[in-house]
Amino acid sequence: MTGRIKNLINKAKVIRSLKARIFVLIFLAGMIPAVIMRFGMVGNYEEHAVSVRTSDVTGQAQILANHLITYNYLQIPTSEIINAELEQLSNLYDGRVLIVDSAYKVIKDTYGISEGKTIISEEVFQCFQGKTVTRYEKNSHYIEVVVPIVEDEFYEDEYLEEELEENGDIVKIKGVLLISVSTENIMSTGEVLSRKADILEITMGIIIIGIAVWLANVLIRPINRVTDAINEVKGGFTDEIIEVSDYLETEHIIDAFNQVISRMRVLDKSREEFVSNVSHELKTPLTSMKVLADSLLMQEEAPIELYKEFMEDITNEIERENKIISDLLSLVKMDKTAADLNIEAVDINELMELILKRLTPIAKKEDIELIFESMRQVVAEVDEVKITLALTNLIENAIKYNKKHGWVKITLNADHQFFTVEVSDSGIGIPEELIEHIYERFFRVDKSHSREIGGTGLGLAITRNAILMHRGSIKASSVEGEGTTFTAKIPLSHLS
Ligand code: ADP
Repeated sequence: MTGRIKNLINKAKVIRSLKARIFVLIFLAGMIPAVIMRFGMVGNYEEHAVSVRTSDVTGQAQILANHLITYNYLQIPTSEIINAELEQLSNLYDGRVLIVDSAYKVIKDTYGISEGKTIISEEVFQCFQGKTVTRYEKNSHYIEVVVPIVEDEFYEDEYLEEELEENGDIVKIKGVLLISVSTENIMSTGEVLSRKADILEITMGIIIIGIAVWLANVLIRPINRVTDAINEVKGGFTDEIIEVSDYLETEHIIDAFNQVISRMRVLDKSREEFVSNVSHELKTPLTSMKVLADSLLMQEEAPIELYKEFMEDITNEIERENKIISDLLSLVKMDKTAADLNIEAVDINELMELILKRLTPIAKKEDIELIFESMRQVVAEVDEVKITLALTNLIENAIKYNKKHGWVKITLNADHQFFTVEVSDSGIGIPEELIEHIYERFFRVDKSHSREIGGTGLGLAITRNAILMHRGSIKASSVEGEGTTFTAKIPLSHLS
């Protein structure tokens, strides 16, 4: 794997990490308002300060313009008072004041550069039309204010404009006052403010990162505890119940996990039990064979009849061993899912006849009457081999656990969804409290009796699994000493 791919995988892990996401969320939630506030405040400062400065200067300029008329400065530009006022204004705003007469000639320049020169600019021209013009040169850092010098001091700007238009009387504007003031100090205050905001923002950023890291760790801790608790249990199914109740969500995860664990414990226990049962069941015939063989070997001159008799017993034990193994194999096959079924349409009536024909010799041996009653013709979608095995087991049990000269009655019926096979017998019955155990593997009501008649304790487990694989059901009812009835109910059409 190349380094790049590894890098990508690591990155993807970080993106998928809940901790990283919590961190980013808290960081953004803290920083976005801070950044918005900073830009709002610092950005607006310049705009606001310039507008305040412009209106200040405009106000001062208008006062000065009035004074110019009062002191007739345009005609005789020598007034000490006006000169002092001009000086004060230019000092106060760090600016330059120009007074232009109606012939566009500069009669006063506080910088003393342009006096006597003619000035024609858009602003001056507009001002002679009666407009007060203000202009902010952001790049060159100055504000320019141009106000008309009007004879009548009561004219307001807009009012004056209207008045002039109405009268066509432009003569009242005696000149214009042009003031340029520097905005350097506004800019430098803005810069100081911006620097302070930067420092504040960095400090806030560091604090928010700290809080985000801390919170991400704290919030994620219960999840880590869940992982730790699960890891602890993973090693072996101890009987411990784990608990992480910090969040409702972790509690739900742990509840579900505890349920899985307890289910696994049950499965583990039943697997252990099964293995020990299998070993025991497989050992029993071997032990018998060994005893038989040993006792023959111990006798110096055993008669041939004894050999024959013992060999017969040994053959029986081998057969038994064989039966247990083949039953176990059938059971393993039945443990699989419904997907392993080999489904085809089967005539159940025909199938029943065949099973009964096969079992008749065993029934005859004990003089047991087999009665088959079919209510209707039934064709169902089933796995023929598995259903045959299931039904054979039920009928075989009804014969095996019967009394001499007894009967077994098999009834086949169906509705539009299911077919049912009822197997009743006149046998020994099953004690009520044991009925719930009869489907367990290797369970036998009477071990020695069952062994005598060749039972392995696996037949009903196989039957039940086969029926469940077909999504059917089985139930048993019994009266001890009187007989037992098994009812198997299986769907007519297979639902995958
Ligand atoms: P087995 O191979 O021993 O017959 P099964 O799983 O078929 O094993 O049956 C389990 C036990 O249930 C049997 O050992 C027997 O005690 C009891 N049983 C099953 N069917 C009947 C029945 N029809 N009548 C009485 N007991 C029965």
